[in-house]
Amino acid sequence: MPRLYGEIPAPKAKKQAPAPKPAGRPILVYVHVPFCRSKCHYCAFHSQAFNQVTFAWYLKTLLAEIALWGHRLQHPRVTTLYFGGGTPSLFPLSALAQVMDALRANFAFEDGLEASIEANPDSACDVSFFRALLSFGFNRLSLGVQSFEDAHLALLGRPHNARQAVETFTLARQAGFGNVSLDLMYGLPGQRTNHWLEQLKSAVRLRPEHLSCYGLTPEPDTRLTRSLELGEFVLPEEREQSRMFVHGAEYLESEGYLHYEISNFARMGFACRHNQGYWQGRDYLGLGPSAVSTIGSRRFTNPRWMDAYDAAVRGNFAGLDFEELDAGTRLKELVLLSLRTVEGLDLKAYRKLAGRDLLKSEPALMQTLRQNDLIRVKKGRLSLTKTGMLVSNSIISRLI
Ligand code: SF4
Repeated sequence: MPRLYGEIPAPKAKKQAPAPKPAGRPILVYVHVPFCRSKCHYCAFHSQAFNQVTFAWYLKTLLAEIALWGHRLQHPRVTTLYFGGGTPSLFPLSALAQVMDALRANFAFEDGLEASIEANPDSACDVSFFRALLSFGFNRLSLGVQSFEDAHLALLGRPHNARQAVETFTLARQAGFGNVSLDLMYGLPGQRTNHWLEQLKSAVRLRPEHLSCYGLTPEPDTRLTRSLELGEFVLPEEREQSRMFVHGAEYLESEGYLHYEISNFARMGFACRHNQGYWQGRDYLGLGPSAVSTIGSRRFTNPRWMDAYDAAVRGNFAGLDFEELDAGTRLKELVLLSLRTVEGLDLKAYRKLAGRDLLKSEPALMQTLRQNDLIRVKKGRLSLTKTGMLVSNSIISRLI
């Protein structure tokens, strides 16, 4: 199958420049690729249709931004790298090689770096593409499958079918990707729990190392939300969605996948280290339009549109607003992010930021949550049970 804009041969592996000596703090790096083949009906992410002219502009600006941050942060040590979007698999390979070279020249990649890239089955459909990704240093692939049923893929506005998704996975394996994650969605219009379990069985038959399972959420200003408002589709009732979450998680655990975060499951040793870094509150640098960075107590958000992004990079980000994260915000984020994970909230870290002991300062709330089997407290950490995960938003909002 042809790639969207024709086959672009993988560039020959270049001799790498010697890695710069790391001087700055360790950091996670995210590269936002704001291009998609078309807009999925449920999507509220920042992305636009791919075209060569805008892409060339994006590439030039991205390379300048990499050099700027590498210099500003004194060649920081990169612990994980993640290309997300958008659709990173639309990236022409020669351009991707340039970006990876620029990252290596301006940042210091840690040994054993986890380097992930997202791909969609409509734009990543030949084995040479995956071989090229491996040669650039990517070692983890996140594949946007969403469903193994064509009717649902059409309803979601995905530009691929189920057969293409399976073929893409097979090609990635043939190329040598040993760490592949599949994205799936549940709670789709007309879906019942047994249907969702069939979807998971189709996924498990492929033996991926990792699965991300997201409930479909109607986002404002999307085509799907308008269709729901017009009554063209109906989402499953909340109770049915809860059953999908619980039975789906039980099934995946019975197949050897650890439920390590509300929406994420991994075989032993394959949890996504990049996302774990976010949940642990590590520093991260976001590159590309609309990307967000948190470095120390400061949070920056890159402009969303190309002209403003380009102007910000050319002006060395002078005058770009940033948010100073106060202790209250950091506390909220600590609770919000860590309670999504199986490790849960470090009560010592909470005490340090809040200046109080959570268990002692909220005894009635803690007792209610425990009696209803919504939380557990073990070895200085508070985490949500499966039932607690179902109502995580209301528990977290009570705690913050
Ligand atoms: S491929 Fe992903 S980012 Fe692009 S429109 Fe679809 S859901 Fe949104």
